[in-house]
Amino acid sequence: MANSKYEYVKREFEFHRHLPASNWIVVLIDGCHFHRFSELHAFEKPNDERALRLMNACATSMLEKFPDIVFAYGVSDEYSFVFREKTEFHKRRERHVIYLFTSSLGILGYCHTQIYLNNSIIKSHHVIDLSTNICSKIISLCVSYFTSVYGMKWKDFFPNDFKETPYFDGRVVCYPNIKTIRDYLAWRQVDCHINNQYNTCFWALVKSGKTEKEAHQALKGTFSKDKNKLLLQQFQVNYNDEPAVFRKGSSVYRDKVKTDDCGNPIKRTREAITVSSFDLIGPEFWENHQYILGE
Ligand code: ATP
Ligand code: ATP
Ligand code: MG
Ligand code: MG
Ligand code: MG
Ligand code: MG
Ligand code: MG
Repeated sequence: MANSKYEYVKREFEFHRHLPASNWIVVLIDGCHFHRFSELHAFEKPNDERALRLMNACATSMLEKFPDIVFAYGVSDEYSFVFREKTEFHKRRERHVIYLFTSSLGILGYCHTQIYLNNSIIKSHHVIDLSTNICSKIISLCVSYFTSVYGMKWKDFFPNDFKETPYFDGRVVCYPNIKTIRDYLAWRQVDCHINNQYNTCFWALVKSGKTEKEAHQALKGTFSKDKNKLLLQQFQVNYNDEPAVFRKGSSVYRDKVKTDDCGNPIKRTREAITVSSFDLIGPEFWENHQYILGE
């Protein structure tokens, strides 16, 4: 910005809130109104594989673009991006405009934060409205880059043009250690399982002639084992045989692969961005990929 008399609007009204040092950062993005967007573009229900592969292609581009992202996990219209612990990604800065801070948007989360003005702490917050993070550079870069790639790659997966412009929201959350990061990812994968099992039953009932209202009614109050039984007895579907990408979502990370170096007996490894659908809740994946979170 040129140094003009108007620059005070930046200097005096824009706050620089730094994310707590040595924390893991997760940026979660989610498609806006994708319930409608998916209907408008005739997504197969409950799971359109083209749409999932497009989301995964966008996440792969994110890891190519931002080396600080060590892991990404996606399901439905959402993707979580985990930035490594000591990331200096844009100096971990969030920009805040004071009116967002003091507005009555409501308190959505907890965070230990200090607000600086001219390098001195003017306020120390323990409770902060995380929805104000929409101003941060980290979120805006992630959301705009992801959305742009989604638009650019759409035609590689779908035959027709957009009927409506896709867009995404984003938020950022800090986690203090590897345990909470793993718990966060487990939480998203449990959510994937619960939603997918419900949706698999719901759409089986709808496709068999029930109205949407009747299908919701039939599933009201049912437990996981009831849904498995319903699928097996009414539709001869074993839920565990459903594709892993539907049941477990998609993980994107840099895998170590052996390269065949023209017959050289000393095998080298290189990193290749990989998409898979492993279980993230148990310890096995993390034991076999300790380098991802630097355990
Ligand atoms: P940063 O990523 O930090 O924003 P930047 O390269 O985008 O870096 P800016 O200070 O935002 O730098 O400046 C934008 C630059 O983009 C301008 O300096 C100019 O070179 C170019 N630019 C933007 N819009 C136009 C335009 N309409 N015509 C020609 N050049 C443009
Ligand atoms: P919001 O704007 O609040 O996020 P939303 O309509 O996007 O609202 P979500 O809770 O994010 O609601 O759910 C996304 C919806 O998008 C799903 O319920 C589903 O209907 C649809 N959807 C997303 N991905 C797929 C897919 N691969 N196949 C089929 N439907 C999908
Ligand atoms: Mg610029
Ligand atoms: Mg500019
Ligand atoms: Mg949303
Ligand atoms: Mg959504
Ligand atoms: Mg969603």
